[in-house]
Amino acid sequence: MPKYATAAIRTIALVGHGAAGKTTLAESLMQKAGALATPGSVDKGTTVCDFDPLEKEFKHSLGSAIVNFGWRDTHVHLIDTPGFPDFLGQSLNALAAVETAVIVVNAQNGVEMLTKRMMQWARERGLCRMIVVNKIDAENVDLPALLSSIQNAFGKECLPINLPSHGGKDVVDCFFNPAGEADFSSVAGAHRALVEQVVEVDEKLMETYLEQGDVSPEQLHAPFEQALRDGHLVPVCFASARNGAGVKELLDVFARLMPNPTEGNPPLFYRGEGDSAVEIRAEPDPAKHVLAHVFKIVVDPFVGKLAAFRVFQGTIRRDSQLYIGDGRKPFKVGHLFMLKGKEHVETDACVPGDIAAVTKVEEITLDAVLHDSHDEDHIHLKPIPYPAPMHALALELKRRGDEQRLSEVLHKLAAEDPCFRIDHSGSETVIRGLGDLHMRYILDKMQKQYRVEVSTKPPRIPYRETVAARAEGHHRHKKQSGGAGQFGEVFLKIEPLARGKGFEFVDQVKGGTIPSQFIPAVEKGVREVLAMGPLAGFPMQDVRVVVYDGKHHPVDSKEVAFVAAGKRAFLDAVRKARPIVLEPIVNIQINAPATNMGDIAGDISSKRGQISGTDSSAGGMVSIEGRVPLSELNNYQARLKSVTAGQGSYVIELSHYEPVPTGVQQQLASQYQHVDVEQ
Ligand code: GDP
Repeated sequence: MPKYATAAIRTIALVGHGAAGKTTLAESLMQKAGALATPGSVDKGTTVCDFDPLEKEFKHSLGSAIVNFGWRDTHVHLIDTPGFPDFLGQSLNALAAVETAVIVVNAQNGVEMLTKRMMQWARERGLCRMIVVNKIDAENVDLPALLSSIQNAFGKECLPINLPSHGGKDVVDCFFNPAGEADFSSVAGAHRALVEQVVEVDEKLMETYLEQGDVSPEQLHAPFEQALRDGHLVPVCFASARNGAGVKELLDVFARLMPNPTEGNPPLFYRGEGDSAVEIRAEPDPAKHVLAHVFKIVVDPFVGKLAAFRVFQGTIRRDSQLYIGDGRKPFKVGHLFMLKGKEHVETDACVPGDIAAVTKVEEITLDAVLHDSHDEDHIHLKPIPYPAPMHALALELKRRGDEQRLSEVLHKLAAEDPCFRIDHSGSETVIRGLGDLHMRYILDKMQKQYRVEVSTKPPRIPYRETVAARAEGHHRHKKQSGGAGQFGEVFLKIEPLARGKGFEFVDQVKGGTIPSQFIPAVEKGVREVLAMGPLAGFPMQDVRVVVYDGKHHPVDSKEVAFVAAGKRAFLDAVRKARPIVLEPIVNIQINAPATNMGDIAGDISSKRGQISGTDSSAGGMVSIEGRVPLSELNNYQARLKSVTAGQGSYVIELSHYEPVPTGVQQQLASQYQHVDVEQ
């Protein structure tokens, strides 16, 4: 058994914008806790958390790194996450594994795009949040102004728990033993503000406070946890990962104030699918059935597949038999590891709150739930809202004969990354990610780690077709050539569905005019048209088809006849229902120097795009958000680079589909070499 109990565990994810110092802070925390002799350096590529050769080369975290260490009487599981919007998948995963999100803010740049996103996501997941203002040692930082901008952006519940002192070489405690001088603001004032914020969640304690003028830290513990859980308090700590100021104090805040797995908001699991799914809450009880969630997969060409999971309920031992999701096949744990960056340390057992890993279990996928009861199938975690990747590249192999290998490698990469997709459209293999850096990382990995050489080109735009009106369709299929005849007749209605609703097929045939065994054939015929719309050959969506009448023949009616009748009746209806082409509209987030703002905004507007907001950070960068048709973004990376002298980057995700302008529709329709669907 582990040497500690669940109540001693703290689970923390370091999240926030790139270069805030998360990786350096993780090293510094480990070193202070005695888990590392000397901290590594991101700049020299010697950190525990950025161990991947590509991370060392890019000098940034590209995936999350998991470490664990003891501090006083607690055991801390810490996840360092990447701060680039391109690698968001890895940061969102990490939030599913922890009680506390520590949002690291760069004192030089202030509140940045990902600071805001992470504050919001952590709140939506019900996590306890705290903010660490890092780099307090750096030159030209205005910490009082930064604290007020944090409070402006995220509310007055962001209250300092310590304050910088001795010119950023140290911090002074404002909670446990509030005494000493801070570089700005007042220690006593900060203490009072914290206590007043906390007692607001407990009426009784509020009375005591009003009567006595103070309450002890012990009395505050439970309401403090509640205030954190309710988002009523977001403690702010100051630190310098570089000179160590505030690092020991931060460890003490983790140990003394951050929730253990029994004190945070438990994550939501569901049993069953769709509307019949019921909510279940995991209980952090080591004696109950096992419930663990796989939040990270690493496919190492040498070691094989590693699956990292968080235990939410029960105890996993090295001899445990576990099940994966609703798969009936059990697997034996065998070797159970705790992670310290790339180092795997074997352990006997892990309890609720622990983050651990197993290797070489091929069936485990990202987001799978591991459990130990044959009846506990269909359990899954509340889905993580991953952005839908739209930055696409079509791949061409440089060497013939590598097709099988390419497919294997792509599937390995997709297994690790929830924001990486593979599409096979026609003869093209298209890969999708969130941004240029994401795609470069994937291509680099394919080449360096797996030795698959590909060249890339822009892929076709994934247009769709739909209808804009209701219509009726009819076809009588009759063939009488020589021997047995074919007969089938179908009457149907179609109508547009709301955008994104997909396809519905409804059988309203009364009195067996089409015998029920032939209804699937009618649907099959309809689906043949769906795969390749009649207007420009793109897949159709957002349409309901209601088959309501028909005719059959006792001898000549057969499946093939109803497939043909269904297909032609549907085509008949589509032609009368104002078919239209839809195009993908993407949400775009551009990060660029503020001086280029005007050019970028002008360019987006000239591309049928709209800017919805801009946000400048203290570092002279601006983040621009908006929407733009995907078809207008061909070669956008190169254009943005030239406008911003190489400093601009962007990520996109699918927003929705919209009708294309009439001119574009005519052009797409005329380019489409009409396949003779009528045979
Ligand atoms: P991450 O992207 O958030 O993981 O940030 P890194 O840990 O990679 O740090 C980004 C850069 O900031 C590196 O050059 C670090 O050396 C530097 N850095 C990190 N922490 C501090 C700090 O406390 N003070 C100063 N002055 N620089 C820091």
